[in-house]
This record gives sequence, C-alpha cells and structure tokens, in this order.
Amino acid sequence: MKKTFAVIGLGRFGSSVAKELTKVGYEVLAVDSDAVRVQEMSAIVTHCVQADSTDEDALKAIGIRNFDVVVVAIGENVQASILTTLILKDIGVPTLIVKAKNELHGKVLTKTGADKVIYPERDMGQRVAHSLISPNILDYIELSDNYSIVEIRATGRLVGKSLKELEIRARHQCNVMAIKNGHDMDITPDANALIKPTDILVVVGRNEDLIKFEKTYS
Ligand code: ADP
Repeated sequence: MKKTFAVIGLGRFGSSVAKELTKVGYEVLAVDSDAVRVQEMSAIVTHCVQADSTDEDALKAIGIRNFDVVVVAIGENVQASILTTLILKDIGVPTLIVKAKNELHGKVLTKTGADKVIYPERDMGQRVAHSLISPNILDYIELSDNYSIVEIRATGRLVGKSLKELEIRARHQCNVMAIKNGHDMDITPDANALIKPTDILVVVGRNEDLIKFEKTYS
C-alpha cells in the first residue's frame, strides 16, 4: 500500500510539496482556508479542500486521520500552525511534519507533538552558502550540528585515482558512501575503481573534515 499524504497550507512551500508528491505518483489531499489557493491547486493534486485547520470538526470531517503523513505548511500564522499541530496530534495522525518559521516556533512545535520540524528557509540558506563557498559542492544535507553529507564533484585531483589510493577514511576521517554518475548511484563503491571525471562523490563526515577534504582536492 502506498503512503497517503495531506498537505495543510498551500503557500509556496506547501504547494510545492503537494505538487511534487502528485508528480511522483502519490495521492495528496491539499487543504487551505483560502478559496483562491484551493482553486489554483485543484487542477494539480488529487483532492483539494477549503477548510480552516484550526477547526477540529472541519479536520475530522475531511477524514484527516486516515492519512499516513500530514504536512503542516502554515508559515506566517504561527498561532494557526501551533493550534493545527495540537489538534492533529490529538486526533492521532500517525506522522506529523510541520514547517517552522524560526527556531522558537520549531521548539514549540516539537513540544506540541510534531514528529518532524522542518526549516525550509534556513536549510536552503545553508545549502546555497555551501554551494557558494565551493562550486564543487553540489548538495549538502545536515545530519546534526557537527555531521553532514555532501555531494562533491570529482575534481582533477581525484580523477583517475581509486578510493583505496586516496585513503580518504584514514587521511580525512570521511567516508565515501556512494558514487553518483548521471542517473546511476553506486552505493557500494569499489575501493579499487578509478574515479571518473563525471563522478559525484557522496561523502559523510564531520563538517570540518569535509571542508578540509574538499579543499585538499579542489
Ligand atoms: P509560504 O511561506 O510557504 O508561502 P505562507 O505562510 O505564506 O507559506 O502560506 C501559508 C498558507 O497556509 C496560506 O495559503 C494560508 O492561506 C494557509 N493557512 C493559513 N492559516 C490556515 C488555516 N488555519 N487553515 C488552513 N490554511 C491556512
């Protein structure tokens, strides 16, 4: 059985989540209190409903409990976002993912029962910053305050060498988890295979070690 999703709040972030889930083949219920937003999304997602998510009866009436994952993407109206989270938790939604405007909002959401709090603006800001620092860093995912995963383009100094020869673990305390090439992803990279110019290395490690690693080969 495929997971079912509901997205509450169809601003820039919520509508993007709903559209993308629909695009990759999932059923999505999109909810917003604004009739125009609902109208705009109705041609794109499976089901679209106008409802105020701070109204418990309205949420129950649309059967929100039957969805495996509910994403609350109300950003600006912090009070509505917190109240919605509280109601959804109370109703017993299995997985509740909520967008936070800032750290304080996020803290309240966690205490209110959000299973996962997301900070799209903060995370995108960090990604852009990392890509600006080095054009070789293609993507960046923060795992914790100290650890991240980065995608690094194979630079001239890496090409033609094997992972074994580079001794990345011993020299840089980083681990190459996977090597991407076009649409292919090798999650068990061969230590003896030679790195190609079109390869992208997916590396996990401490932030400072990742920066040193990237600098060494840029
Ligand atoms: P973004 O920054 O992603 O564009 P916004 O905060 O601007 O997010 O958009 C949030 C959306 O949530 C708006 O479309 C707004 O109409 C909707 N919204 C706000 N409060 C409620 C509520 N109580 N119930 C349902 N939808 C709401």
